[in-house]
Amino acid sequence: MDQLTKYLDKEIPNVENFEREEEEEEEEEDDADEDQEDGQDDWDDWNADEEEGEEAFDSNFLCLFCNSKYNDCNVLFNHCNSVHYFDFHSIRKDLGLDFYGSFKIINYVRSQVAENRCWSCGLSCQSNLDLQHHLHKILNLNDIKALWDDDKYLKPFKQNDPLLYSFAEDEEDDDETTRENLPFHANQNQKNGMEDCTSASHGYLNAASSLEAKIENTVETTKTLELKYDVQEDNQLKIARQIFDRNDIKNANENYFGSYGSFGIHREMLSDKVRMEAYMKAILENPSLFQNAAVMDVGCGTGILSLFAAKAGASRVIAVEASEKMAAVATQIVEDNGLWRNRKQTRECGVSSGIIEVVHGMVEELDKSIEIQPHSVDVLLSEWMGYCLLYETMLSSVLFARDRWLKPGGAILPDTATILVAGFGVGGTSLPFWENVYGFRMSCVGKELVKDAAKAPIVDIVDANDLVTSPAILHTFDLATMRLDEVDFTARTELEPNLHNPSNNSNSVEVEASWCHGVVLWFETGFTSRFCKESPAVLSTSPYTPKTHWSQTILTFGEPIAVASRKSVTNISAPVGSHACPAIKLHLRLSIARAPEHRSIDISLETTGIAGDGRKRHWPVQLFTLR
Ligand code: SAH
Repeated sequence: MDQLTKYLDKEIPNVENFEREEEEEEEEEDDADEDQEDGQDDWDDWNADEEEGEEAFDSNFLCLFCNSKYNDCNVLFNHCNSVHYFDFHSIRKDLGLDFYGSFKIINYVRSQVAENRCWSCGLSCQSNLDLQHHLHKILNLNDIKALWDDDKYLKPFKQNDPLLYSFAEDEEDDDETTRENLPFHANQNQKNGMEDCTSASHGYLNAASSLEAKIENTVETTKTLELKYDVQEDNQLKIARQIFDRNDIKNANENYFGSYGSFGIHREMLSDKVRMEAYMKAILENPSLFQNAAVMDVGCGTGILSLFAAKAGASRVIAVEASEKMAAVATQIVEDNGLWRNRKQTRECGVSSGIIEVVHGMVEELDKSIEIQPHSVDVLLSEWMGYCLLYETMLSSVLFARDRWLKPGGAILPDTATILVAGFGVGGTSLPFWENVYGFRMSCVGKELVKDAAKAPIVDIVDANDLVTSPAILHTFDLATMRLDEVDFTARTELEPNLHNPSNNSNSVEVEASWCHGVVLWFETGFTSRFCKESPAVLSTSPYTPKTHWSQTILTFGEPIAVASRKSVTNISAPVGSHACPAIKLHLRLSIARAPEHRSIDISLETTGIAGDGRKRHWPVQLFTLR
C-alpha cells in the first residue's frame, strides 16, 4: 500500500509519546535500524500506545471514505456529503431506510471502500486516493438500493464502529427520559462532541440488544477517550476540523482556478527569471526534442510554454487550462501571435493551419472537449510546482495526462523533482528583527512568532548564510515513471553541522556550537539529458541560488537545538542538543502527504540529535499543514 494509505490508516502520532529522551535505549536504536533496513518508513512506532487503547473502542467517527475523524457524527456526515458525495441523511430519507437499512449501508460502504471500489457504481480503483477522486453523485438511488440489501451487512465491517450507533439517535430523539437514564449524559460530553456517540448508543441498545456488551464498553471507555481528545485536539482533530470548516473539493477547485484568473500571479511567474530561464533553456535549446513534435501543455496559463514549444518547432501544441479566464486570455495571446490552430478548419481541409490550440477545462476532463488519441503526445510540458513542491497537488493532474496521452517513451518536462533540506540558525527566524527595533527590545514578539512558527510552515526566503548544516536530499521523484500514490512519502535524512558557517561567529579552530532553529525545505526540478539531450537544465529554488517566487518553506523546531562538528567538546552529563553537548548530527524523518483539505499538504517532522558520544535525543514529532 502507498504511503498515503499508511498515513490514512494510522492515527496522527500522539505527541505525548514523544517526550524528550535524555538517554538512548539501545533497543530503540535497533528497531529504528531494522525499520530502515526493511524500508519500512512507516508510522507504526508512532502509534504503539494509541493502538493499545484502540482495542477497547475507537473514539472517533471515522469517515467512510478517507481517514478523517470527527467527534461529532453530524460533522462527519456533512463531510461525507460535501467531500465524497455521500449524503447519508438524504439517502436515508429518500429510501426510507430504517435502523437496519442504515446499519447495512454503512457496513456495505465501508466494505467497498476497503477494496477501493466505488460503493455506487462498483468501479474498482487502484488506491483509496483514486477512489476519492472518482466518487460522484448518485443519479437514481432506487437503482442501487439492492446493493446493500443483504443480511451480511448487519455485521459491523469495522470493529466497534461508533457510526453504527449514531443514527439511531434520530429515532429516539424525543425520549429524553430514557436518555437521562444512561450512565453517561450527553451534556457531560458536549465539550468533546461525544453527545451523539453516547446518546446514540442508547438507541442502539434498544435496536440490537445482542450488542449490549459492546455499548457498555463504549460508555466505559468514553471517559478515557475524553482525556485522549484533549491531547489529540492540537493535532489530529485540528486537521480534521479544517476539512469541515473549509469548502468542499469543488469549491477548493473553484477558488484555486479562480485565483489563477488574476493577472498578478501570472506576472509574478513570468517575471521569475530563474523559472523562465530554466524552461526556455529546456524548450528552446533542445530542437531534436521539439522539432515536429506533438506537445501538450498542462495548465498553460498565459500560454507561455506553448509559445516556446511552437517557437522550438512543435507541429501541434494542445494547451490545456482550467481557469476559464486564463483559457480565454491564452487563446487571445496565441491568436495575436499568429499561432492559433483552428480545429474545425484543420478537420475540414485536412491541412493544419497554426500550431497551438487552447482548450478550456481540467486536463482530467480533456476528452470532453477535444478528440485526442490516447498516447499520441511526444512531449508533455507543465509548470505544476507549488510551494514546498507539492502544495497545490497539481502533480496528480500532470501524471494523469502522462498516463493517458504521452506516447510510450515520450518526454515529460521537467522529468525529475527533488526536495532538499538544511538546518537554519537564528537568522532564519524573526528573532533578530524583534531584538532591536529602533533601539527598543521587542523580543517578546519574536518569541511568540517563533512559537507559532513551530506549528505552521512559513514560506519565505532563507539566506544561505543563515544555514547551520549542510544540505541533504530528502526525496526525488522520477516524473517519467512515478505512480500517483507515490506523491505522499516518508523520508529519512541526516544533517551535518556546517563547519564553515559564518554565523558561528568563531575564528578559532575549535568549532563552537550553533543553534539550529529548524529546517528549511526547497526543491529542484530537472530537465535532464534523458529527454533534453542537447541542453539539460535545472530549476533550483535553493537558498544558495537566486531567489524565486517559491521562496523556501521553513519548519521551525519547538526549541532550538545546539549543533557542532565532531571536534567539539562534549559534556556527557548535559542533555544532547544543549550548548554543553551539541548534536554532531541531526537525523530527520519527514513525511509529506496530501492533506484531507483539498490542495493542502500535511508535513510531519521528527528530529533526533546524536551527540559525539553516541547518545541520542528525540524531540516530539511536529505536524505542519501548508494551506
Ligand atoms: N504554464 C503557465 C502557468 C503555470 S501555473 C506558466 O508557466 O506560466 C499553473 C496553471 O495550471 C494555472 O493557470 C492553473 O489554472 C492551471 N491548472 C492547474 N491544474 C489544472 C488542471 N488539472 N487542468 C488544467 N489546468 C490546470
